[in-house]
Amino acid sequence: MIKGLRPLAAITLLTAAGLVAAQGYPNKPVTIVVPFTAGGPTDTVARSLGQAMAKPLGQSVVVENVSGAGGTVGATRVKNAGPDGYTVLLHHIGMSTAPALYRKLAYNPQTDFELIGLIVDVPMTMIARPDFPAKDFREFVAYVKANKTKLNLANAGLGAASHLCGLMFQSAIEADVTTVPFKGTADAMNAILGKQVDFLCDQTTNTTGQIKAGSVKAYAVTSAKRVPTLPDLPTMQESGLKGFEVGIWHAVYAPKGTPKAAVDKLVAAMQEASKDLGFRTRMSELGATVYPVEQITPAALASHLKSETEKWGPVIKKAGIYAD
Ligand code: ASP
Repeated sequence: MIKGLRPLAAITLLTAAGLVAAQGYPNKPVTIVVPFTAGGPTDTVARSLGQAMAKPLGQSVVVENVSGAGGTVGATRVKNAGPDGYTVLLHHIGMSTAPALYRKLAYNPQTDFELIGLIVDVPMTMIARPDFPAKDFREFVAYVKANKTKLNLANAGLGAASHLCGLMFQSAIEADVTTVPFKGTADAMNAILGKQVDFLCDQTTNTTGQIKAGSVKAYAVTSAKRVPTLPDLPTMQESGLKGFEVGIWHAVYAPKGTPKAAVDKLVAAMQEASKDLGFRTRMSELGATVYPVEQITPAALASHLKSETEKWGPVIKKAGIYAD
């Protein structure tokens, strides 16, 4: 309470002060926390998005990689950050799978954040070390089934997109293989290139360059339709895995309690970024689809996050996979 003021006057004054602070927002760089390692698929989206948001925000946007535990370490960091609009999180489908995967999750994705908006949807690709002995997806599946005790599947930890895709794949072909977790698929990709692990299901935002350069074997995409930038890769569905479809949606979150004026400014900056030619071109070159502007809103993200949580929760529970 401000001394000497009647309660109502004090409240009015404080609200006005908050408003002035938020109206000046942002007056310093905004940090996007990426919950995986630098140089990976989420990092690539964040850096491109940050560049496109800098103009409408009138401030530079920096990316900080806070990796570990399938993205939950970075998300926890943002949940606990000051709610001032200067720290936001870019995360993916992992926000809807973590509640089922982690018995002790430090946050509730639906209630512990200010939801800002959806941004891109990214298909995944099944890739393998450059000398993997299969020439197409059918041969790949047969080889994995026949050699399941000898093969290693890389992923970016429990809750990563690569983990989810790997789970779905193992269940679809009814073969359990040994999984090797990394802190991001940038590291998993290095292990594939170095032939230390055998295969990986990873987002096109990380694999397109390597596939086009021919440095890895690529077998299929996880989207319902072929990806225009990788037209030679069949979908898993057309290659015999009926119903296999997964797309990795990405969205931005701020700590709960971030002032509405800052949230509004972030939403507007994301909407502007989604129309930015540089951002759109980069995303489409990497196989990603930018959400239409009307879906880049807190309300659309709230309903998507809810329905995705309801979709994946039972699938994960059924798979019996969780971390204590
Ligand atoms: N998105 C993660 C990364 O950037 C990988 C994953 O979720 O599989 O490394």
